[in-house]
Amino acid sequence: MKSYITTPIYYVNGKPHIGHAYTSIVADIMKRNREALGYEMMLSTGVDEHGQKNQEAAADLEMDVNAYLDMRCKEFKDVFDQFGVSYDYFVRTSRDGHKTAVAGMEQTIFDKDLIVKKQYTGTYCKGCEEFKKESDLTEDGQCPLHPTMKVETTDETNYFLKLEPFREKLLQHIDDNPDFVQPEAFKNELKKMLAEPLEDLCISRPKSRVTLGVELPFDQDFVTYVWFDALANYLTNIGWPENGYEDWWAGCEHLIGKDILKPHGVYWPIMLMAAGLPLPKKLSVHSHWVGAGGVKMSKSIGNTVDPEEVAEKVGIDGLRWYLARHMRADSDSQISVDLIIQTFNSELGNKIGNLLSRVAKFSNKNFDGKVPAPGALTAEDEALRKTVLDAVAGFGAWIDMADIPAQVQKIVEAATAMNEYIDQQAPWSLFKNEETRERCATVLYVTLDCQRVLFEALRQVIPASSGKALAMLNAPSAETPWKPELDRLPGGNPLGELGTLFPRVQ
Ligand SMILES: [Zn+2]
Repeated sequence: MKSYITTPIYYVNGKPHIGHAYTSIVADIMKRNREALGYEMMLSTGVDEHGQKNQEAAADLEMDVNAYLDMRCKEFKDVFDQFGVSYDYFVRTSRDGHKTAVAGMEQTIFDKDLIVKKQYTGTYCKGCEEFKKESDLTEDGQCPLHPTMKVETTDETNYFLKLEPFREKLLQHIDDNPDFVQPEAFKNELKKMLAEPLEDLCISRPKSRVTLGVELPFDQDFVTYVWFDALANYLTNIGWPENGYEDWWAGCEHLIGKDILKPHGVYWPIMLMAAGLPLPKKLSVHSHWVGAGGVKMSKSIGNTVDPEEVAEKVGIDGLRWYLARHMRADSDSQISVDLIIQTFNSELGNKIGNLLSRVAKFSNKNFDGKVPAPGALTAEDEALRKTVLDAVAGFGAWIDMADIPAQVQKIVEAATAMNEYIDQQAPWSLFKNEETRERCATVLYVTLDCQRVLFEALRQVIPASSGKALAMLNAPSAETPWKPELDRLPGGNPLGELGTLFPRVQ
């Protein structure tokens, strides 16, 4: 079984921001989830190195364009490495194999008379690198996504891909494959985009204006429009057009933010249909992060969240935890450094980390450095074990992107239940009397084994900390495919070296 997850490739005209970190971290969580189920995985992420914006960013810094791209590419790669994103393929669209394949796809479509050359006068947003219809613009005639950039009127000859011949077929595909676009809200949005006849898509830029791009195979005065070039990465990463890509492609899932639904939900499927290729399996769409109070993040307000700065404060897993836990399925979600620190302290610190260190330290001190061996279980013990097993069950099954926050929420509830159990059972008192010492051992064992189950599941979300926790418990390595199971922590087993998992952040 093969599963191929892609993130968008990011424009390198600035440093990686929280949105980039989010999609790539979520992709990593999903990869770890599929791996735990026994899938063979491919995860691609990377950078889009073409287009006018990159060309201008290099010029602004008075840098050679290749040196500029190398620098930005390294920055993005370093950030994803730092965040524990276990990508298998890091995309650079400047790669020769990619450029040849893009040109091949264009030639195929051109030969079918689906690409036409024509003169076009229109309003152009450099931020989107896209022509805009009047209905796309704000009341004062600007791009709603780039209000400060000022749209330009452009009058030029370009090549266009015919979209309309495929509109009905694409709508049919969406109806026939209910899982093709998820969640529902974005599927409906996409269907709205396809409700009216589609204008031809401009797929070229004259070299007189843009030089950084893939030259059109049928006209050397033009380079390929960035979206056409960028979208093709999803195929070229897995070796298309050479044989061997088919199995990966059949299990392909694209993760995207809602702002790029149109290129991925309209342009890309139609490019594929025009080239005679099958569509990807799924498009998973997420909303955006906004500042505290629902205010859009901006440098001038000072409410942007720099992922690297956050990671310095709460660690990579503190950041991963917040991102996994708080993105809502179909509306924008709030993020700020304060919210991340609060969540880190109250959930990872107080609820999850403290419990492990209290129980493990007490066992270590009073049971000879070992996991206490349990006696007979009570109804309370069994109830807690069931709660924990139910809570992590989702991580033993396929998790859709939109379901990640709910699954993490269940873990928090299980941790709350464990804390309540410990407070009620009070092993510290049970230990004081000889007669209740066996009961104390059982309570500690039940808690430690439940924690093992919890952290085995959390390897999918916060892998580094979970690895540390499992090492403290000296837990036997979990099998693949992974299933949550009780009693895999042997009683009488020595504990590992203990430490603090999530030190409190001020
Ligand atoms: Zn724009």
